[in-house]
Amino acid sequence: MTNKPLINKKHIQYLEGTLPIIISVPHGGTNCPDNISNRTNGIFEADEYTKELTFDIINEFFIQTNSYPHTIIMDLARIKVDANREEKEAVSCHNSLASYKTFHNFIKESIDTVEQKHQKGLYIDIHGQSHSHEAIEFGYLLTNDILRLEKNDLSLYKDKSSIKTLSNYSKFSFVEQLKEEYSLGTLMTKNGFKSIPSKEIPFSSNDEEYFEGAYNTKVYSSINDSCVSSIQIEFPYYCRKTQENRKKTAKALVKSILEFMKIHFNLDIKSS
Ligand SMILES: [Zn+2]
Repeated sequence: MTNKPLINKKHIQYLEGTLPIIISVPHGGTNCPDNISNRTNGIFEADEYTKELTFDIINEFFIQTNSYPHTIIMDLARIKVDANREEKEAVSCHNSLASYKTFHNFIKESIDTVEQKHQKGLYIDIHGQSHSHEAIEFGYLLTNDILRLEKNDLSLYKDKSSIKTLSNYSKFSFVEQLKEEYSLGTLMTKNGFKSIPSKEIPFSSNDEEYFEGAYNTKVYSSINDSCVSSIQIEFPYYCRKTQENRKKTAKALVKSILEFMKIHFNLDIKSS
């Protein structure tokens, strides 16, 4: 738990942060109240331990910056609501719709706050996968097929990516932001966790084993020219399962995000 009390509303936990960073975790909930009917279509599988990992991440932010990111956690199980889908696929009844809307309203309000206060920022949607490569996947709305392209062809996809407006602040090119020396994937690799895309692994060797980002990453991206860009992060199981590994993962991730914010957004959060 954190030093600061979280707001609990309609099965959502919300931490009002002060950093130019927003974190959401849509698939880590386990609550299954009887008054909310089960969904009948879609994917029901939870992203196990992503909620626990998120608590370690926000605590690590406090350790490294003395501040918190805005954080939005879905406590309902995915069989009750899928907070990373559009409304008609996400919910099956009135009660889950209220939770779904609360979750997304907290994200929208947090992004508005970051836009007003900092004029730039980063939104991160946290997930879990069990792909055989055991690397962390960073999603920018670009499929693995697109990540395979040569530099010149790949650079044409900037406007379709979740970090469309990052070049307004960064002195590095879009492809450099995505997978070169100072990409989040390469920074995370240097901090001990192999990642896709990165300098070391620019794309997944198997197209079926890479998630480029879904509803949340798209809706809260900078495709619409917002000053807040988005990145989906899909953690392999070993990063989530044990408390020891969650702490190590969180420490490396926060270090990498702070480096990324300094390099590309010129935001020195550590000293602010
Ligand atoms: Zn997920």
